[in-house]
Amino acid sequence: MLLSPILTSIQDIYENYLPLTEGNPASYIPELAKVNPDLFGIAICTADGQIYEVGDSQHLFTIQSISKAFVYGLALADHGVTAVMKKVGVEPTGEAFNSIVFDEVNNRPYNPMVNAGAIATTALIKGNSAEERFSRILTLFEDFVGHPLTVDESVYQSESETGHRNRAIAYLELNSGMIEQPIDEHLELYFRQCSILVSGRDLAVMSATLANNGINPITKKQVIEPDIIKSILSVMASCGMYNFSGEWIYKVGLPAKSGVGGGIIAVLPGQFGIGTFSPRLDELGNSVRGLKVCEDISSRFNFHLFDTHTLLDSIIHRQYNGSIVSSTKQRRQAEKEILEKEGKQIAVFELQGDLYFSTMEKLFRYLENLDPEIKYLILDGHFINNVNSSALFLLDQTKEELLKNNITLIVSNFDTNIIKTLLSKGWLDVNFSVDLDSALEECENLLLSKYLSKQIDKNKKLSLSEMDLLLEFTPPEIEIIKPLFEEIIYKEKESITVEGEEANQIFFLASGTATVYLKLLNGDKKRRLTTYISGTCFGELALFDRGNRYANIVADNDVICYVLHFEKLKILINNYPEIYLKLLEILGKNLVKKLRRNSAEIKNFSGVNILSRK
Ligand code: GLN
Repeated sequence: MLLSPILTSIQDIYENYLPLTEGNPASYIPELAKVNPDLFGIAICTADGQIYEVGDSQHLFTIQSISKAFVYGLALADHGVTAVMKKVGVEPTGEAFNSIVFDEVNNRPYNPMVNAGAIATTALIKGNSAEERFSRILTLFEDFVGHPLTVDESVYQSESETGHRNRAIAYLELNSGMIEQPIDEHLELYFRQCSILVSGRDLAVMSATLANNGINPITKKQVIEPDIIKSILSVMASCGMYNFSGEWIYKVGLPAKSGVGGGIIAVLPGQFGIGTFSPRLDELGNSVRGLKVCEDISSRFNFHLFDTHTLLDSIIHRQYNGSIVSSTKQRRQAEKEILEKEGKQIAVFELQGDLYFSTMEKLFRYLENLDPEIKYLILDGHFINNVNSSALFLLDQTKEELLKNNITLIVSNFDTNIIKTLLSKGWLDVNFSVDLDSALEECENLLLSKYLSKQIDKNKKLSLSEMDLLLEFTPPEIEIIKPLFEEIIYKEKESITVEGEEANQIFFLASGTATVYLKLLNGDKKRRLTTYISGTCFGELALFDRGNRYANIVADNDVICYVLHFEKLKILINNYPEIYLKLLEILGKNLVKKLRRNSAEIKNFSGVNILSRK
């Protein structure tokens, strides 16, 4: 079994700091002093729910001040940022967590991460009774951890009996009109929220939920709106570690929150959350080992948020035009010629990675330099990961610019949520295709309709002389070969060729369409490869190697084929060798054309032909 290097690293960190026995468990809440000071656990939960944990990561302890970050989120959900800001600021105090200082200019506590601010935050929690208000807090925490939680009643009692300093803070706040009655209810609520029992593992999941846009990575429940997360993380970053917050963000570089129960959470947005537990605290009230663990993990793995010097990936996965790559739709000779000549009017940009301000800016620079000949633009989203709102705004502006310049935009493979947002921005004039192939086909159709005087009538039965591959045959030659062909009618859904069967005929499609399906290796799933239309021919490869059929070809509708059995070719060989040669030559040329085209596509896809930005 391979051992995860993440796990071995946190094991290593655990062992490094296990001997560290500086500091003491909090004792100002008498019950907290009873904890076994040697307990030590570390857990990391990724934004997709993978948990790595060592030591006493499942030991339960009281959440204490870490609750402040989450209750602040609930207050924001209850009242919105503007209303909450009036009641609690976001400035660090530079003072101890339990200090009695207020922002007197604005008549509010400095921030929600210290006691004065947290009591004011808890006072904001809605509910018709003390029970209902507490149950809303508890339910929120349970949603954050993904399972039921309980309160440590003895720690709660202990704090309620001895929390006179917090009472003093609350009454001062009442006196200045920062909070309103019922003060005792607010205080009990605050003491209870601090006494909720969690483990280091729970803390990791809670912080991973913050990292994961408010979606619990284990239960997948949206616990809190993404908008609120950035407010929570901001105050965690500036005020989460009490009067150590400045040094913390300087060294560790992650939004974090600690509690006097010995817990710490730290969040790397978009990636994971850390939860540590070790009850020995320093003078400021932060877990001594917890600080070391976070510092160590952060420097080992470059987690510092300001230590990101990521160079922009290219937003362009591949770029090409419609004369190099075409849709899988089989085209008539006349159409092929037009597409070969005019295909360069179609530009395809396969986008990749995250769309945000800087990658969109790059995309726009590519588009600015588009060949003026280009009249159709496909933006394919198959390799796009995340799209933020500024990217959607810029995409919308880009669309307007394209329209002004008479360039038709087609987008393919865009995520349904993005499509919904774009539609709500009025993208009704844009064609959304399910896949790139249909987008290409659509562009080709638009292009062809400009150049072809009359559309090809799919239902008209073509004569043998109208088959693309037989166009070079003279009327007398057609007369000679005609008797060799058998006219066969296939009903809708009927198989024309079956994978694996011996191949001994060439099919020329006189009317209708037939689709090639490949059976996928796993199970009965099949994939559409291409569709043949009247005038085109299939099955010719086997003439050269007499191999077996590699795919199923099925009639999409009632189909008429001119079928040439290989046996019949003997008649040509014996009586009309020059006609036989001509046929072989045409088939050969046709194959060469296909191969050349494939090579051009492969060359393009292997990056040789990717256009560089001018
Ligand atoms: N319940 C504790 C108090 O108010 C929480 C303090 C903390 O964890 N920093 O004193």
